[in-house]
Amino acid sequence: MEKTLRGVGVSHGVAIGQVRHMGTAVLEPPATQIPTEDAPREQARAQAAVEAVAADLIARGNLAGGEAQAVLEAQALMAQDPELMADVSRRIAVGSSAERGVYDAFAAYRALLASAGDYLAGRVADLDDVRNRIVARLLGVPMPGVPDSDEPYVLFARDLAPADTALLDPTLVLGFVTEEGGPTSHSAILARAMGVPAVVALPGAIEVGEGTVVAVDGSSGDVLLEPSQKKQDELRAVAAERKAALAASSGPGQTSDGHRVPLLANVGGPADVPAALENGAEGVGLFRTEFLFLDDSAKAPSAEKQVEAYRKVLEAFPGRRVVVRVLDAGADKPLDFLTPGDEPNPALGVRGLRTLLEHPDVLRTQLKALAEAADGLPVHLEVMAPMVADRKDAKDFATACREAGLDAKFGAMVEIPSAALRARAILQEVEFLSLGTNDLAQYTFAADRQVGALARLQDPWQPALLDLVASAADAARASGRSCGVCGEAASDPLLAVVLTGLGVTSLSMGAASIPYVRTTLAKYTLAQCRRAAEAARAADGAEEARAAAQQVLSGE
Ligand code: PEP
Ligand code: MG
Repeated sequence: MEKTLRGVGVSHGVAIGQVRHMGTAVLEPPATQIPTEDAPREQARAQAAVEAVAADLIARGNLAGGEAQAVLEAQALMAQDPELMADVSRRIAVGSSAERGVYDAFAAYRALLASAGDYLAGRVADLDDVRNRIVARLLGVPMPGVPDSDEPYVLFARDLAPADTALLDPTLVLGFVTEEGGPTSHSAILARAMGVPAVVALPGAIEVGEGTVVAVDGSSGDVLLEPSQKKQDELRAVAAERKAALAASSGPGQTSDGHRVPLLANVGGPADVPAALENGAEGVGLFRTEFLFLDDSAKAPSAEKQVEAYRKVLEAFPGRRVVVRVLDAGADKPLDFLTPGDEPNPALGVRGLRTLLEHPDVLRTQLKALAEAADGLPVHLEVMAPMVADRKDAKDFATACREAGLDAKFGAMVEIPSAALRARAILQEVEFLSLGTNDLAQYTFAADRQVGALARLQDPWQPALLDLVASAADAARASGRSCGVCGEAASDPLLAVVLTGLGVTSLSMGAASIPYVRTTLAKYTLAQCRRAAEAARAADGAEEARAAAQQVLSGE
């Protein structure tokens, strides 16, 4: 029987195929007591398994490259955490087997993380994944994770750990669907980076039977169970048409009457540059430099390493804009050497620019590395700070940039409602704004972006969020400055039309979304974009805003 489930579409495209579930079985090793004389052997087994899993994660990272690589390397570090390992040893010394010691030590650490607040939900999934891998190795059973299959399939999971999303083979994995995870979660960002259709926060996903044929629409969030042959043919025809139109799309981002809105790429490092170029990115609108720092959370990467990575990205875009965001550490991206471990509420604590202003040496090194990397290159370098709250923040950042001798435009991300409301004051200090709608939604609705159950409030179609976007864009227009969007909102083609109508001047997104946004934007005039934006803002909820914009644009 045909049935439709609705989740949140986070990565465009249509996938039709059979369901394969992720191997997530929790392997609980027996709690048998081992004789004391066996402890050294068990210690050695545990150590060897940890090392092998860490090496495997690093190898997968090398294979995946880009943002995925940094995430996998962070997981490898997690596996080798000295405190965790010390706890494993203690447990083995009092009679645990290697597998039971690992299992219990990770459980204790997990409980600690979970009690530290919801913000750590994403890291808990990573930790469970590392534990499962080590325990599976010790028990000699297959690794949990991506199913073995020679046939293409649609992957279903409760949530996807970065280690798994990195391994998804686009030629085999037609798309994926998760029960948990929000539209701005790590998994969603990685899926877009890979260009695989994906739907997250789909209630009932884990109960869909293995082998069920499904049709996944990564744009609408609809997942059809057992679609009829006729429906499958229809969807395939629409998808093929869309694909052909997308392949034919090229050139700069603009409305049908020629209003230019540059379409830029979000990148995490040099590995993401080829996809940006293939999809016709007109530059980079967000270079998330913190991925270079996640390799080793105990210290900053050397200036030389930074220069090398920055230069590789900057030299790929001669004559183009490249907007580099300085290190955004803290909250969901903690770094041991910078982030306080005892904050009661890290998302509201010392993170982003606040961290850098407390560690001016780290900021100075990064800015100087950027200056050196850009030296002699024909790129238009722009540098921006994350989590700017007010004019003083913007001023302190601009001063640091000037003191580092940086020849670039300085800008501020608008991720905190106060910055959107007082954008004019901020523009007294910096030259451009970039709306980080992921965090802006999180702070506007007091809804943790990592919690799938709050997806309704993180929906960037929420009219309150659109009001804040309008407020920042109006201030930028009045000041003769630019105001782009680099949060995930920019990758939704219909929302991109609305953002253009609100006065946003550029859109930056995961590279695979660029052709979708380009094609949709090119269908409407600027006046239509403005009318759609007005209709969306006049609505009372995200669903209603989307429907209102759709209605205006379809001329109903
Ligand atoms: C944002 O918050 O919208 C943003 C672009 O930054 P990040 O997703 O890296 O926090
Ligand atoms: Mg942010």
